[in-house]
Amino acid sequence: MPELPEVETTKRGVQPHIQQQRITALVVRQAKLRWPVSPELQSLVGETILTVRRRAKYLLIDTAKGSIMVHLGMSGSLRVIEQGEPPGFHDHVDLELGKIALRYTDPRRFGCWLFVAPNASHELLSKLGPEPLEEDFQREPFAAALRATKRPIKQAIMDNKIVVGVGNIYANEALFMAKISPVRAASRVSVKRLNALYDAIRIVLAEAIEQGGTTLKDFVGSDGQPGYFKQSLHVYGRGGLDCTVCKQALKEIRLGGRSTVYCPNCQR
Ligand code: ZN
Repeated sequence: MPELPEVETTKRGVQPHIQQQRITALVVRQAKLRWPVSPELQSLVGETILTVRRRAKYLLIDTAKGSIMVHLGMSGSLRVIEQGEPPGFHDHVDLELGKIALRYTDPRRFGCWLFVAPNASHELLSKLGPEPLEEDFQREPFAAALRATKRPIKQAIMDNKIVVGVGNIYANEALFMAKISPVRAASRVSVKRLNALYDAIRIVLAEAIEQGGTTLKDFVGSDGQPGYFKQSLHVYGRGGLDCTVCKQALKEIRLGGRSTVYCPNCQR
């Protein structure tokens, strides 16, 4: 599933090609995504793309008459193609931009293409917490929000109201870096350790985005899927293997239905 670093990498991959381009058509081959593709998006044909932004895991393609809000869902991807390239079975939407097009591919159809009116915020965005890599994510409010909940710390940091974009992979990795057990009640973690967690979240996400930078060229052209990059992960996907720090076996459990891997020796 694309997590925040993949969505940010997608933004950086497509932005230089589609920004300042005029929308010449919107071709919808399959409107049944997680929600139906908004018919209002057709009103943006003729408009110029002014900016491409990311908020949490949503991409916002802005024009003067409104924005396109894209989510990649479980399996979606975007790439820039030359106009006229024949669509594959899972290529559900093309945003045509003269000689090129932004093509949306989504085998599981769990993403979305929604319309947002100018200067409005979509309801899906209105209750989101701060962006982890931006200035509105601050230590004290983060620690206070966690100290106020008895939920396991891993579930608390994956709550979009506390901070957005900490998906399952990066929650596992950040807790390992901060040496905090994922099952510990958030209210029972010291402020000092919550500060370490704040730093760890920013570090693991920034490192993943940096690794994604090597794949930017994959977002252009027809040769397959954009590279959702392989990352060097310490715990996620490594249940039963040795801890990279203490060499003891990593433990894998289910927490809130999600795979959770941690070192019982290093993380308390
Ligand atoms: Zn360990």
